Amino acid sequence: MKLSNLKRFPWLLGAVGVGLLGSGLSAQTASAPRALGVDVANFDRSVRPQDDFFRYLNGGWLQKTPIPADRASYGSFTELADRSEAALRTIIEEAAAAPGSARGSDAQKVGDFYRSYMDTARIETLGVRPLRPEFDRIANLGNRAALPEQFAHLQRIGVQTPFGFSVGQDARQADRYIAYVSQSGLGLPDRDYYFNQGAKFAETRTAYGRYVEQLLRLAGERDPAAAARAIVALETKLAGSHWDRVRNRDREATYNLRTVAQLNTMTPGFAWAPFLRAAGGESTPAVVVRQPDYLEALNREFTATPLDTWKQYMRFKLLDSYASVLSRPFVQAQFDFRSRTLQGVEEERPRWKRGVGAVQGAMGEMVGRMYVERNFQPAARARMQQLVDNLMVAFREGIDELEWMSPETKVQAQAKLASFNTKIGYPDQWRDYAALEVRAGDAVGNATRANRFGFQRMVERLGKPIDRTEWGMTPQTVNAYYSSTMNEIVFPAAILQPPFFDLAADDAVNYGAIGGVIGHEISHGFDDQGSRSDGQGNLRDWW
Ligand SMILES: [Zn+2]
Repeated sequence: MKLSNLKRFPWLLGAVGVGLLGSGLSAQTASAPRALGVDVANFDRSVRPQDDFFRYLNGGWLQKTPIPADRASYGSFTELADRSEAALRTIIEEAAAAPGSARGSDAQKVGDFYRSYMDTARIETLGVRPLRPEFDRIANLGNRAALPEQFAHLQRIGVQTPFGFSVGQDARQADRYIAYVSQSGLGLPDRDYYFNQGAKFAETRTAYGRYVEQLLRLAGERDPAAAARAIVALETKLAGSHWDRVRNRDREATYNLRTVAQLNTMTPGFAWAPFLRAAGGESTPAVVVRQPDYLEALNREFTATPLDTWKQYMRFKLLDSYASVLSRPFVQAQFDFRSRTLQGVEEERPRWKRGVGAVQGAMGEMVGRMYVERNFQPAARARMQQLVDNLMVAFREGIDELEWMSPETKVQAQAKLASFNTKIGYPDQWRDYAALEVRAGDAVGNATRANRFGFQRMVERLGKPIDRTEWGMTPQTVNAYYSSTMNEIVFPAAILQPPFFDLAADDAVNYGAIGGVIGHEISHGFDDQGSRSDGQGNLRDWW
């Protein structure tokens, strides 16, 4: 499932891991003096700090910490993510074990969603049958003119189509919501996989073709081999007009404001009115097209590709999106290609982990609220705010001291810094899941309804004032982010624990750990992409 729209928050913490991942500030052992906040057992005292400070601090931890067999790396982030996952498992399994929770209550939704996901006996019996209504819908499409509405339908239920549709803050007018249209439709990670030379890419392409064929065969496709060839050929044509990752990172180049009339002129073969109506996007003030020439190329494929090929393509995309809630052969095929071949993962994650992940994807803030009640000390908010405030002062002084920045730019930079917003721990306004229906014993239906719910919530924002209480990450996420359109830095509860943050620790420890994360996120407002937006969140060259 693909529910959260994190594309609007492209600057996740990620890179800070390099600095902290290898750090020996690991979870405190019982013997560690707590008030200090640093586990001295992780030191390697055979190294002189003035010779190799990193080794001195972390050598002990490195010696006693092997990388687990099911992972490619290990460190503070993974350690905390495991802890967060375990806490959620407890919460979710308690809800699943509670008898007779009131219909429509949080406990009923969490419990029934998880139980239906874990009920593999029932899932095996059903096979691919729960998708039958969707297959019929595709089969009944009479002509190409029906495709815009069908694409909107597929997007609502979380299925990939040749372009992506989303609603978010307008990057040039951050006080309103607007629709975005982006290139999409590829089953391989990006365009390079379709064209790059070398044995590894060639093998991946062959494996992908086999995967497409296998899913279709399992679903009873008449000639799965021919269908797979047609689908991969269509994707390859789409990929030919996809922008690469570097170009997609350019915030100016990917902002192209178009009216719906202009869109229709760009793609005469594809009618936008029925699409927008079915997607719930009719009231958008305009559309931001990320890659205009991709839409023109898509128009060519849209008109040249036979309807039957589009139907094969849609059947595969449907299966690829829902394989995780289908019977064993689908799960196995998807793991073999998406995890083993593409990522080198040797072992499937246990089903409970996938179930916990599915609940989080469907109702992340609902379980997030339960997580915060049990795992977050309210006092941490005030302490964090203090740290952020002090780092802001340091950053302000840092700007003033810059020798290379002109006085006019300094004024603008200070204005941006002064309007930073900070969110700590959890949202003040929790997401309302009342409209999400969860039924016992219906894993596919629950996944479908959760996708619909997430999509509807997204498009309903059109025409409304910006919801400044919204979070782009759940509180149980071990990460942090900066949002350029909100001009804010956000620190979920799950990163506010040792070794990153410790209420009982000395200030020096917190500045050294979470202080680095805070500084990292503030800096994102002024790096090569963040600097392109001003303090109001508008894409504007002020530098
Ligand atoms: Zn970052």
